[in-house]
Amino acid sequence: MGLTWYQESLKETFKSDFKPYNGQAFDIAIVGGGLAGLSLLNLLTEAGVESLLIDSDEIGTGASGRNGGFCSPGWSQEYENLFKEYSPEVVKDLDHISSQGLAWMKKKCTEKAFSAAEYRKGIVSCFLSGNAASVEKTLNKHNKIFETNHKFLERNELKKIIVSNRYLFGVKLSEGFHFHPLNFMKSLAKECVEKGGQISEDCNLISYKKHQTKYILKLNIEDEVRSISSEKIIFATGGYAGREIGNLRRYWLPILTFIGVTEPLDKKLFDIFIQNYGFSDNRRAGNYFRIVEGNRISWGRGISALGDISSSKIKKYVAKDINFFFPELGILNIDYAWSGRMAYARHLMPYVGLVNPGKENGVYALTGFGGHGMNTAPGCAMVLADHLINGSKSYKIFDLFHRSWNGGLLGPYAAEAQYIYLKMWDYFEQVFNRG
Ligand SMILES: Cc1cc2nc3c(=O)[nH]c(=O)nc-3n(C[C@H](O)[C@H](O)[C@H](O)COP(=O)(O)OP(=O)(O)OC[C@H]3O[C@@H](n4cnc5c(N)ncnc54)[C@H](O)[C@@H]3O)c2cc1C
Repeated sequence: MGLTWYQESLKETFKSDFKPYNGQAFDIAIVGGGLAGLSLLNLLTEAGVESLLIDSDEIGTGASGRNGGFCSPGWSQEYENLFKEYSPEVVKDLDHISSQGLAWMKKKCTEKAFSAAEYRKGIVSCFLSGNAASVEKTLNKHNKIFETNHKFLERNELKKIIVSNRYLFGVKLSEGFHFHPLNFMKSLAKECVEKGGQISEDCNLISYKKHQTKYILKLNIEDEVRSISSEKIIFATGGYAGREIGNLRRYWLPILTFIGVTEPLDKKLFDIFIQNYGFSDNRRAGNYFRIVEGNRISWGRGISALGDISSSKIKKYVAKDINFFFPELGILNIDYAWSGRMAYARHLMPYVGLVNPGKENGVYALTGFGGHGMNTAPGCAMVLADHLINGSKSYKIFDLFHRSWNGGLLGPYAAEAQYIYLKMWDYFEQVFNRG
């Protein structure tokens, strides 16, 4: 697969030459330089905790530098489902974590040093189906409980923002914004190093083991195997890890999703995208799209548990999707197409905390952010940093989301079957709603 549009339009550069030497000792080793690992490094470094972050590739090569670029409140799991299982206090605490992550991201993105992240206000969810009155009622309930200001948009109000006959009504999420995630990641890495954090790129964890009170990490650095020691290890490896992370690998599935970016478009585009917001639709694995570079559409679509698809197929599906929603634009050429991997646990919530409590009291997980990591990953990094720095136990809220086996070899097939089933429901809902 070729370069992503983010790689092509990169304005911020970051390259670390730091390589740990054989036998070097660290307080904390963070494995994975996505947003989860990097935001944790940032917080630990600010607090003066000497930490090393390693990534098997360059910073931002994983999901965090190739995603839709939407930062909005909430989690991969929906609040209404959380309310069914947990007390209102628990759900409120979870919302607080999600909102503190969002606020942290907004603060960073609006700083001068992060100007390449191109912060743009406004995220709107567009509904193809559903009962408007009941959506508005739930929205009002959430606004009251979480003290938010999400706004219900009647069809006519929505049309003043985005024009498509497919959408029935919408919701504008308060505080939501969109941005260039790869430029953001590079800016954040730069800031970490300026503050004294250590980052080693092209440095792959092969395995780890306990030795007395420490952990020994075996690393592959420039085709050489080196060992370092660390008091604590944090696995922030997202959907890209393998067996090297031990039994944590059994509790999530890598799920792919796809993005295409169109050719530059003429001014017809602005008859449709009246506001430069980020848009998504309410289907279970719906589309997420926005204007990038002033006149291209970035269009996210679909998920797959069974493996990658070719870039020509992604382009074909993206062009077809856009034509379905915005036929006025005709069949567009898609200049860029790529995929990315997300880590999903069965309960759609992340793993934050000890991987094997009682057995390995220095090995932590900070992973499983699914398709909603741009606020939740830093939000959870804040919770974990509070534990690592101050001994806070607030991360234990995530113990409520028990680890559940990913189904082994059959897991991806079960996930794919569930996706197809949900897509069918989306289809029926749209048909019945429209009569
Ligand atoms: C195409 C796409 C679109 C998305 N759109 C959005 C969106 O608009 N909004 C949103 O909120 N979320 C979105 N998501 C989800 C979001 O991107 C993720 O939840 C988030 O980036 C996860 O961050 P992470 O740090 O956990 O993982 P990643 O960013 O994937 O980082 C994990 C890192 O770990 C490294 N690693 C793995 N194994 C090892 C090892 N053995 N040794 C060293 N390093 C290792 C990898 O190289 C990788 O860099 C999207 C995801 C994708 C793929």
